[in-house]
Order: sequence, then structure tokens, then C-alpha cells
Amino acid sequence: MGERMRRQDWSSTPLPPPEAWPHSLRALVRMMLDASTPMFVVWGPELCYLYNDAYRPFIGVRHPVLGEPCARVLPDVWPALKPLLERSLAGETVAFEDLPLTVTHQGIPEERWFTFAYVPVRDDAGTVQGVYCAPLETTGRVRAEREKEAALATLHLAQRAGGVGVFELDQETRTVYTSEEFCHIWGMPVRPAYPLAELIARLHPDDQPRIRTVDNILSRSALEYIEYRVRRDDTGEERWIARRGEAPREGVRRLPGVVYDVTDQKRAEAALQVLTAQLEQQLSARTADHDRLWRLSQELMMVCGLDGAIFTVNPSATRILGWTEAEMVGRTVRDFLHPDDVAPSSAEMRRLAAGITTQAFESRFRHRDGSYRLLAWTAVPDEDRVHAVARDVTREREAAQALRQAEEALRQAQKMEAVGQLTGGIAHDFNNLLQGIIGSLDLVQRRVSQGRTDELGRFVTGAKASAHRAAALTHRLLAFSRRQPLDPRPTDVNQLIVSMEDLLRRTLGETIQLELALIPTPWTTLCDPNQLENAVLNLVINARDAMPSGGRLRIETGNAQVEVPTGGDLMPGAYVRVSVTDTGTGMPPEVISRAFEPFFTTKPLGQGTGLGLSMIYGFARQSEGSARIESEPGRGTTVSLYLPRFQGAPGSESPPSQALGEEHRARGGEVVVLVEDEPVVRALIVEVLREWSYQVHEAEDGPSGLRLLESLPQVDLLVTDLGLPGGLTGRQLADLARQRRPALKVLFMTGYAQAAAQASGFLQAGMEMITKPVAMDLFVSRVRRMLRDA
Ligand code: ADP
Ligand code: MG
Repeated sequence: MGERMRRQDWSSTPLPPPEAWPHSLRALVRMMLDASTPMFVVWGPELCYLYNDAYRPFIGVRHPVLGEPCARVLPDVWPALKPLLERSLAGETVAFEDLPLTVTHQGIPEERWFTFAYVPVRDDAGTVQGVYCAPLETTGRVRAEREKEAALATLHLAQRAGGVGVFELDQETRTVYTSEEFCHIWGMPVRPAYPLAELIARLHPDDQPRIRTVDNILSRSALEYIEYRVRRDDTGEERWIARRGEAPREGVRRLPGVVYDVTDQKRAEAALQVLTAQLEQQLSARTADHDRLWRLSQELMMVCGLDGAIFTVNPSATRILGWTEAEMVGRTVRDFLHPDDVAPSSAEMRRLAAGITTQAFESRFRHRDGSYRLLAWTAVPDEDRVHAVARDVTREREAAQALRQAEEALRQAQKMEAVGQLTGGIAHDFNNLLQGIIGSLDLVQRRVSQGRTDELGRFVTGAKASAHRAAALTHRLLAFSRRQPLDPRPTDVNQLIVSMEDLLRRTLGETIQLELALIPTPWTTLCDPNQLENAVLNLVINARDAMPSGGRLRIETGNAQVEVPTGGDLMPGAYVRVSVTDTGTGMPPEVISRAFEPFFTTKPLGQGTGLGLSMIYGFARQSEGSARIESEPGRGTTVSLYLPRFQGAPGSESPPSQALGEEHRARGGEVVVLVEDEPVVRALIVEVLREWSYQVHEAEDGPSGLRLLESLPQVDLLVTDLGLPGGLTGRQLADLARQRRPALKVLFMTGYAQAAAQASGFLQAGMEMITKPVAMDLFVSRVRRMLRDA
């Protein structure tokens, strides 16, 4: 600039050349040119600009404008500068710090800051002619300060928002410089600083020693993270505060740190701790439970791989199988399996591998002693392992087996008992029937030998009826043994019942009134007619048994169309119904529910077989029909047979044929009273005795026999069945009769060989016993002999 000044053509400026400048200006310019900090001076009324090299950047890169008037050099800031310069020209020093000036640089206005003073400069005469200035641009510092302030404001905002209080601890004075937020967090008046002692005094008593401890070791360690409780002034509430500080460094007196409220975290933490403790307790309790179950379970428990490798077993495994855990773990299931169970077990494992749970799978495991234990398994797959539980069912199985055997034996015994009863009952019936047949045939033979043919038909019919019933009886036996083939034929039930009427009437005797209520046009049914006869006969006998003192018995036929399933075993369809109704004792529900059971009987031993209804039911079911009982105690009973309708005409059956003969004759028409409950036998004996010229009076049971005996003036012989219906046995009847007629001859008949043997012991004089079946000749000669002996 010095060089430039020397070469400057001062005539183009308002200033005179430097030689003409006052001394003061010359000295100032020389000082300015020597200085390395920016300086300028404005001189004269035009305020011409003189400056040094360091100042050049202030006026930009333009050509030096030495001596030019200031208004031209700095047109942009001139309006702002002018008043200031004028004040200085008036003799005042005008100083500025960080004065903002808008400087346009390369067309862009920019705010910059300057610190300077305008110092008046006088001429040699002492008049202020110019202004001197050494400006200092402070833009960088100002901007930095502004930025710092903004940053701090942001920080404070963040602190407030984030609830972070900052402090600095002066280690020497033990003063804590606190931020506003610090005071808010502590709940105490906002002050820039607090003595450390006062802050410590605000802490919860239990926490005070900890702070002191921390402070005592400040010199060698960081202001550690610490939590303490503070009671707030404002609300009196106790809050948890966390503090974290900077590590002390050599020569650093003030240690900064932060505090924040952690009450909520502390509470959550406490709750979490309680929860965790509870969970831990539950978990350990559960683990203990599981462990206990594992150890105490009577069941064998095992965890194994899908390949059967045994991972673990519980103590029961040892108890059941004899192998210790160590002996089992590491081996495979297959090592213990019965050879026959290996394949099924492998199959089961494959099912497990496919995710299917095993239930009640049984396999035999080898005990340490070489025997096998039957185990019933429940197992669940779980990824690559199987959890299995097994029950030792060896004993159970053995016990079940023993029980089955015992049951089987019992059933066998029951069966034998039943068969015994059945045989007894049937043998009895059979003897009666055979009596009817043999007796009739005897008569036929006699008549034929006499050349008499009248009435032969009657005897033959009687013999046939007995033979039929005997056949029916064998049918029953065969049915019982289930070897009897049914012979189903289209059958007219009305015709069948009508053909039985005579038989039935005789079976029922006088006290029971038989009534037939047959539908005029019954449907034809398809069934075995013999079986149907048998069934009807059985129903009638049951009805008779239920009416010991007489009553009414009604046989009804009907057509029944079953439309909806009845709940029983009767399918919808068309049926022919045969019902037998009596006015007898009826049955309580528990008897109804069991009446169809084989061997179920309420009758005394020797009288009931319990097979009648069971065979009827079996027959009906086999014929694709059914049977029903309707009964009430005291109100009688209706048993109905449902037999399927047959679309077609019934077949017809031809009736039977006959023959008979004779010997010894009655002397003077002796009077014989015959008491026999079996009608055919009775009819037969009556016939034979009349044949031989005896006067015969008949009765079907004890009481009527007694009445008969009492009503007759003369009785020579009592012929009586030993077993009789109506409450009096043949023996009792005989005793009663002998009270009036002590010399009365008595001939007992019985179908029971055993009864005959017993009776022989109590036979008195004039009493004899004959066993059915008996040949009519034998019978007549026995009668003749007894009467002749008299
Ligand atoms: P049983 O006649 O040999 O006893 P059943 O099978 O014929 O055997 O009958 C079984 C039982 O059903 C009888 O013992 C009796 O208690 C009862 N019962 C059968 N029919 C009748 C009826 N009409 N009235 C009362 N009870 C009957
Ligand atoms: Mg019966």
C-alpha cells in the first residue's frame, strides 16, 4: 500500500498529495502501513479513504480506492456508517462491539459482525479532520456464540422434556451448580447452586451413607451410577432419582453429571421382581411337582428317541422290570421287547413318528429275571422324542383271565343246574304224555281184539294229541339245544288255534274260561306251525299258572300294520298278532323285564323251567317277528306274538288216525275217584276204568278231588297223581280222605321216579304207588288186585 500511495495520482482525489498532508495524518498513515491488523482512516470533508493491506479484504477485491470518498467506496454500509462517522468527526470516540452490518459481497447481502471504535484524528491545528479505525470482524465468534446458545437452549429443552437435570460439582468448595430441571427433579426451589451438604441432607436417611461413600472415593473413581431417594418439598412425595457423573480428571475441579427420575422404572422393577420371584417360586414348585410325580408314579415313565433309544426312565421302571436306570438308559426299547412284540412295536413307533398318539398299546417287556411283564402304553411324540407312560397290566390280565375262568365255571354250573331242572321237568311231562299214548294204544288194542271199532277214533285222537305234545316237548328240548331247524310254512293262525281248542280247554280245566276272539279274515303268516302251537300252548300254561283260582283266558288274533319303529325290536311292517290274555296275578316290571330270559322263572323248583317265554321269544325273532308282554300286578297279563305277514295262501294238514282192546272187569261196579291234572292221562284212565265197568268220578286237582270224595256215598278206590295243582298234593288228599274213610284204598301215580322212591317210605297199608308211564293192562290189573285184596 505504501508503494501504491507513492505512485498514486492524488490529483484525481479530493486529497492533496501526501507531502501536503498535516503531520498528524502522515504519522498515522505511516503507523497504519506498518501495522499488520486492518486499519483505515477517513480524512477531510469528503471523508477520503486511506487504509492498509490488512484492511483490503474489508472493501472486497476491487482496485484500491485510495483517497476516494468513503461514500463511494462503501456505498452499501455508508448509510449506517455516516451518522457514526459524523459523531466521531464531532470529537467523540464511538465504540462498537459486535455491531452487525449487512455487507453485500458479490451481490449477496450478508450479515457480519464487527467490533471497532471510531477515533477522531486532529490536524496540526488541533481540529478534528478525520476518523481512525482498526476494525475487527467478529462474525465467526458471534456466529459460534449464537450457535452455542441455540444448542444450549435445545439442550435445556431436551433436559426438561427428557427429565434430565444437569449439575456440576465443585470439588473444592463442595458446591453443586444445578440446572433448572435438576431442581425440578429434586422438587426444590430453582437455584443456580446448592451446597453439597444440603443436597445430601435431602436424601432418604438410608441412602445418605452411600452418597458419602461415593464422594469419599471421588478422587480415584468416576461419579458412579447411583440411585437414591429424595423427598420432594412440594408434594412431600418420595421419588427415586438416578445420578450419573463424569470421571474426575487431573486438574478438573468441576465434575459434571446428570440426574433423572427413575421412580416409575423402580416401581415397575419392583413389581417385576415380585412377579419374577413368584414365577420362580411357581416354576420351582412345578418342577418339584413334576419331579415328585416322576419319582413317585406307580407307572413306568420313559423318554426315548423315535428309534427307540432310551434316554431316561423313572424309578418305577426298576420296580416293574428289575433293571436299574443305568442298565436301561443307552439301550433301545427293542432290547427289552418280547421277540413277538418287536414288529408291532416298530409299527407303533412309526405311527408316533407320524405324530399319532399311542393309546392302550400293549407289549411285553423282559424283566431282569427273564420273565415278561405286559405293559399298556400311552405315548406322545414330541419332535424327535417320545414321552411314554406304561402301566403293568400283567397281574390285571392274569386276574381277568382267572375271573373269566371262574365265570365260565359258574356259568357251566348254572347251566348244569338249569339242565337238571329242565330235564326233571321234561321227564315229568314226558311220562304224562307217554301215559296218554300208551294207555290209548292199550285201549285200541283191546277194542280191536274184541272186534269193536266204535270209539276207536277217540282213543287214537287222544294218543295222537299226547304224541304231538311229546313231539312238541322234544322240539322244546331241541330248540333249547339250538339244534332245531324251523320248518316255516304259510300258516292260518285261526285254523291252528281252533285245532288246539280242545287240547287247550282240557289243559285249562273247569275253573278257567277260555274265550277265542279271532279276526274274521286273518292274514297268512309264515312260520313253523308246530312251534306256533307250542308257543300258544306255553302261553296258555303260563296263563293257567297265573290263575290258580281260576279266571278268564282269551286268545285273540289280529292283523297289525306297524308304521313307525316302536323303539323295541319290532320293525315297521305287516304282522299277524296272536295275543293270550289272562286275568291272573300279572307281573311286576322287574319280572316283565326278565321274563324272556332263558331259565328265568318265579316258580318253585321242579315246576318252572324258565324256558317257555325264552323259547317263544326266540321263535318269534327267528321268524322275523317279535313278542311283547303287557302286564301289571293284579291286573292280568297279555303276551302278544307278532309274526310276519305272508303274501300267499296257507297250506293244509291232514288229521291223524287210531285203534284199541280189553281184560279184567269190575265186580259190581266199584266206585273209583280219579284225581289227575293232566287231562289226556285223566281222560285215558277214565276211559280204561269205564271200559272195565268201574264207576269213575274224575277231578283235576286236590280240592276238587276232596269235594268229590266227600260228596260221593261210596268210594272204593282213590287213584291220584302225587303232584297236583291247587294246593293239595295227592298224599295230603289221601290223608284227608282217609279221615272219613280209613279203609279207603289209594293208588298213587307219579311221573317222578325219585318221588316214587320217597313215597314208598310213607305208604301205609292199602296204599300203593305206580310210576307213569304205565301200560294200561298193568294199571287195570293193579286196580283189580287192590280191590280184590279188599
Ligand atoms: P316258567 O313258566 O317255566 O316259569 P316262562 O319262561 O314260561 O317260565 O315264564 C317265566 C316267568 O314269567 C314265569 O315264572 C312267571 O313269573 C312269568 N310269567 C309268564 N307268564 C305269565 C303270566 N301269564 N302271568 C304272570 N306271570 C307270568
Ligand atoms: Mg312257562
